[in-house]
Amino acid sequence: MVPVTAPPIPDGAVWISGHRIRAVGPFCEIRDLAGATAGPVTDLGDSAVFPGLVNAHCHLDYTGMAGLLVPPRGFPDWIKGILTLKSQWTDAEFDASWRLGARQQLESGTTTVANIETRAHQLAGLRATTPLRVFSFLEMTGIRSGADPERLLAEAMEVLKGLPPNRGGVGLSPHAPYSTSPALLRAVAAAARKEGWRVTCHVAESESEFDMFMYRRGPLFSWLEPQRPCEDCGLGSPVQHLHRHGLLDSPLLAVHVNRLWGDDAWRLAARGASVVHCPRSHTYFGHPRFPREELTEAGVPICIGTDSLASTRVSRETPATLSLIEELRALATADPGLSPRRMLAEVTVHPARALGLKSVLGELNTGALADLLVIPHAGSTTTVEEALVHHRGPVAATMIGGRWEWVGPGMSDRVPTGTSGGPP
Ligand SMILES: [Zn+2]
Repeated sequence: MVPVTAPPIPDGAVWISGHRIRAVGPFCEIRDLAGATAGPVTDLGDSAVFPGLVNAHCHLDYTGMAGLLVPPRGFPDWIKGILTLKSQWTDAEFDASWRLGARQQLESGTTTVANIETRAHQLAGLRATTPLRVFSFLEMTGIRSGADPERLLAEAMEVLKGLPPNRGGVGLSPHAPYSTSPALLRAVAAAARKEGWRVTCHVAESESEFDMFMYRRGPLFSWLEPQRPCEDCGLGSPVQHLHRHGLLDSPLLAVHVNRLWGDDAWRLAARGASVVHCPRSHTYFGHPRFPREELTEAGVPICIGTDSLASTRVSRETPATLSLIEELRALATADPGLSPRRMLAEVTVHPARALGLKSVLGELNTGALADLLVIPHAGSTTTVEEALVHHRGPVAATMIGGRWEWVGPGMSDRVPTGTSGGPP
């Protein structure tokens, strides 16, 4: 058992009651504690059990775009490429792509996804197709359409408030500083504060975004200047831009943050923001070095996200899978000095806290939701986190809310399915 908030427990057990964890500890202690009240015991054999992983940034609906966009020479070229591709896709293609992503997440041990949603009219139906805890952050832009920010926001709020409740939640996602107006950012910030919703935004992803806001120059600025008023450019860094327009007023999931300037890291830390790093997407674009040390020194929690498979390198030998474990392995390659324990925190307790669910998700502890992933592991507890980072293929089994929702072929004779009903 790997509780994450405590050292791994050899020969451990987790006692689950309904949707939640009642206790975690050595098997003999849990057996005595449960006594006559214990239900059936499931022996997972030579396995390691972790909390279900929490993906802090994802675009499920682009899963089917894997390999369709070659890594671009410049960031604006990629934006143009995906806009063209999206305009050619049908509802049915987006539907299949979103579901494929959700299935890959489940099979790779992710149980909670902070997902950027672009298919407002399909969203209720899509969310109903998966047992995952999907936190749907509805994407807003408004630059090309020239739509009134208040109207855009009102439409987004109506969609989100009309969704049937599920295991996850909802939030707002103004896409990025360059694709939104300052008025939209301010309106979103005010609405999120009022509703108690989380906000997520791509920020300081590319050098050209940084140049646009700092210096009114570069390829992104040249492309967008004819399309959007640019009085907000040349005034400071992208992070300062978000701060100026209220987006740091409540805890923000700031995605990418590859470029910092001045006191940006301290500014994010002081406002309770978390930063989401997406290792494979980062490599795909060849972005500037991720400023992990600066952010950590300032006290900004770092989370890991998958981003989308549209910005992940694929080859015939290694078809891409939407998987946080794959992201961990890419991170270990890019930054060999990082300990597996620290990486594990970035896909469990850090993103749980970023979603406002500290002690509820991302750990095996009394009172937490019973979301688990299981991998085969016959080694010692000292290498168990490393075993997760280097695990390949689907996990052995995934549980959400006390119910086994994915069981691989190697575990099907051990794990009873359908043992507890429905959400939460
Ligand atoms: Zn993204």
